[in-house]
Amino acid sequence: MFEIINKHITKNRSYKSLIPQGIVVHETDNPGGTAEAHYRYFNSADRQASAHAFIDWDVIVQTIPWNEQAWHAGAYANARFIGIELCRPSKHDDIKFGAVWEKSIWLFAHLYVNELNIKEITKDNLLSHDEIRMRFGGTTHTDPTGYFKEYGKTINDFRKDVQNKVNELLNKENDSDKISDWAKDAWYWVKEAAISDGTRPKDFVTREEIWTMLYRMGNN
Ligand SMILES: [Zn+2]
Repeated sequence: MFEIINKHITKNRSYKSLIPQGIVVHETDNPGGTAEAHYRYFNSADRQASAHAFIDWDVIVQTIPWNEQAWHAGAYANARFIGIELCRPSKHDDIKFGAVWEKSIWLFAHLYVNELNIKEITKDNLLSHDEIRMRFGGTTHTDPTGYFKEYGKTINDFRKDVQNKVNELLNKENDSDKISDWAKDAWYWVKEAAISDGTRPKDFVTREEIWTMLYRMGNN
């Protein structure tokens, strides 16, 4: 899980409502340009373009609310899709690309699960800007095909990784009350010995909760 830094731009805004049916993945084609730099660029003058978020190797910056249309992939797609831009390292950099990829996979999955209520990632709800161009026209851009290719990836790899992350997020939600098989003996024992009530199996513990459990173990 990553933090989404909200820095809404005041220029290049449509203020038109969007009920997103999917997300378009882009790349900035601006080597070395960070998410913060793109926020400043789109917030400082009329650029005739915009996107909902920018992801670099350090942070995720959201510049437009998910329920407002941005100007990222032509009239047809803008009215239907969220647009997210992946930043480019200044030169070929596997580590920085890996960090951008990981954050992007998480953000897309998070949005499908929590904003769009979509569980099945398809070619109809996750498209590259390039695929928007081929299917709907209204735009000439081919990103992020070249950027992905430089790192041995395709849009299908992206869809596959987002699907896996969606599954992971959904399982986490469904399994939050389930005791893992390997922990069952310990679960029975802590309840039997009145050390813990055995609820909230996947929650983190605080130091004072551990002290209390050790105290009960030594004194019950
Ligand atoms: Zn694009």
